Amino acid sequence: MTRAAVVGAGTMGNGVAHVFAQSGFEVILVDVSEDLLENALAAIKKNMDRQVKKGSLDEAARDSALDRIQVATDLSATSAAEVVVEAVPENQEVKERIFHTLDEVTPAGVILASNTSSVSITALAAQTGRPERVIGMHFMNPVPVMQLIEIVRGLATSDETVERITQLSRDLGKTPVLVRDSPGFVSNRVLMPMINEAIFCVHEGVAEAEAIDEIMKLGMNHPIGPLALADLIGLDTCLFILNVLHSDLGDDKYRACPLLRNYVAAGWLGRKTGRGFYTY
Ligand code: NAD
Repeated sequence: MTRAAVVGAGTMGNGVAHVFAQSGFEVILVDVSEDLLENALAAIKKNMDRQVKKGSLDEAARDSALDRIQVATDLSATSAAEVVVEAVPENQEVKERIFHTLDEVTPAGVILASNTSSVSITALAAQTGRPERVIGMHFMNPVPVMQLIEIVRGLATSDETVERITQLSRDLGKTPVLVRDSPGFVSNRVLMPMINEAIFCVHEGVAEAEAIDEIMKLGMNHPIGPLALADLIGLDTCLFILNVLHSDLGDDKYRACPLLRNYVAAGWLGRKTGRGFYTY
């Protein structure tokens, strides 16, 4: 594969476009407005400049990577790609609509991938006439830095699609790990209950946030404590994913801590609002 499209140019989409372009792909980046696309291109340039400063990318490679990214505000621009990665906000209805349209505007052989953290890949695939070529490519944030891509196999995803996306992930310099389609996949199913339990410890007065994070860093060798990580991810996102785990798996062990609900109600969403379990 040499041509990719990325739909949604936010935090994740611009990172995915960055990695494709840096790996030699022609990239079409789609969002709903020119302004958002300009911001995304500026973010990609800034992140590549940082790599140049660190010595992990040279200036000529940066310039040619940037030249390989085209932008568009219409989904039909994805028709020239061999693979499309969708990275629009975590809303099932919006994603289903986009998959329906992508199925209409791209040739039948194109693989349609979603970067969703929790929406069912099987449900997105059902919006298309090519469920065997729909798959999850769950990149981690920040995309240019993080090694993992959690590859999510929907009920109808074919072996060939899994193989092609596994190879593509390696071509992007990443490490793919394959899982089946299930709420929260593996990454969030394991991570979110740990974060939730850390929040319960604050809620019940077992220890202060700093102490909980210190214990997990020094005692379990985690590079970042669960509460600092929750602030980084966004407390609204954590609550959203816990609610999906709770409702879709039907087990009360995924019940979100009331303190997390209160923080989200207060607008204390973590780093992005300047206040969460820490102040920024
Ligand atoms: P974001 O809000 O930063 O970006 C989403 C972008 O999609 C926005 O620029 C928005 O304008 C655009 N968009 C909305 N509707 C569109 C449409 N119809 N066509 C084209 N573009 C459209 O969101 P994000 O944090 O980048 O998350 C995107 C996806 O990645 C979500 O599914 C999320 O769950 C997943 N994800 C996020 C993270 C993270 O840490 N942020 C990590 C892994 C996966």
